[in-house]
Amino acid sequence: MSTTDALPNSKPPLIWLNVSIFVLTGLVSLIVVPWYGIVHGYSVGLWVAFALLVTLNEMSITAGYHRLWAHRAYEAHPALRFVFLLFGTMALQNSAWAWCSGHRRHHLNVDDNDKDPYSANRGFWFSHIGWMLRDYPSGEVNFNNIPDLKRDKMLAFQHRYYAPLAIASNFGIPLLVGWALGDVWGGLLVAGVLRLVVSHHMTFFINSLAHIWGSRPYTEDNTARDNPVLAVATFGEGYHNYHHIFAHDYRNGVRWWQWDPTKWLIGGLQYVGLTRRLKRTPAFQIQRALLSMQMVRAQRKLEQMPASAGPATHIEQLRRKLAQEYDALASAVAEWTHVKEQWLEDKKRVVSEHLEHAIEQANVQRRLREIELRLKVQRRRLRILNAELA
Ligand SMILES: [Zn+2]
Ligand SMILES: [Zn+2]
Repeated sequence: MSTTDALPNSKPPLIWLNVSIFVLTGLVSLIVVPWYGIVHGYSVGLWVAFALLVTLNEMSITAGYHRLWAHRAYEAHPALRFVFLLFGTMALQNSAWAWCSGHRRHHLNVDDNDKDPYSANRGFWFSHIGWMLRDYPSGEVNFNNIPDLKRDKMLAFQHRYYAPLAIASNFGIPLLVGWALGDVWGGLLVAGVLRLVVSHHMTFFINSLAHIWGSRPYTEDNTARDNPVLAVATFGEGYHNYHHIFAHDYRNGVRWWQWDPTKWLIGGLQYVGLTRRLKRTPAFQIQRALLSMQMVRAQRKLEQMPASAGPATHIEQLRRKLAQEYDALASAVAEWTHVKEQWLEDKKRVVSEHLEHAIEQANVQRRLREIELRLKVQRRRLRILNAELA
């Protein structure tokens, strides 16, 4: 129950610590960093350290905070978790507990202005940074949704000592860089402040722009968008439409050619034993989502088609084609479910003849692949149908 004497239109109080951090670091980046560059200049080594630290900070958020802890998309070796925690702390986006709790609420209540802490329906500014500037009821911290993370001692330690750890990493590492390169002020400005501001906004774009700008090939149930340009700026998180429908997948850019360095990092580290049990959405489910969206679009276009668009028989023909596609999808889904059930049954059964079992498994896999292929062919047909309707 919330009781407040405030007027309905009055804004919640400002969180001065957050406001000061964003304003100060923003101003220093815009004014002092260029000024020092003109007067003194920056070495190449400093820019290399800047790029390296931005990457370490960002990937600790995308691969660590986001895909490992918030979504449990894979398991990681303690050494890797330590690195994620160190550079995630330095990224200054709150403790992993607070970050993941808010993010799980974002997924569960996406676009709900009262429950999603950074609802995109409240506009660009709010979802980008505004939600952190005031004490909004939607941003109330509550750790009920992270019981799994609360059992993790490393995360508990980080949460407890977050402030001193954040200060130590944000000053300590840039000072070390500056000292090593013989330019302490340069280190503080570029590896310290500019690095922080750039990595902050890279992450913030995922909550703002990735819910506003781009396409929705998998679902229109929420505002999340797929955007390859944003994927480049966010180490792969730009494929946000896919992510919102299949949040437990360790990949956001699911196609092999889609730019997702976070997915490559997680996949690559598997070969040296640092990550394991990577979760993947079955290809069939991905195809099914894509196909369903194509059908929704075709249906919409058909309904909006003016009578003057062509002879009634032509429209009727298109309508029949679409109905056939619906039937084809429904039967593929039914068959896939049936084969999958059979396969699970078979796995449970104790098979004395190993060879027979292996052949049976191979047959099932082949049938599943056949159904997947059918959906792929169907998607091509739907693309043509959608073009006809355009
Ligand atoms: Zn989102
Ligand atoms: Zn997420």
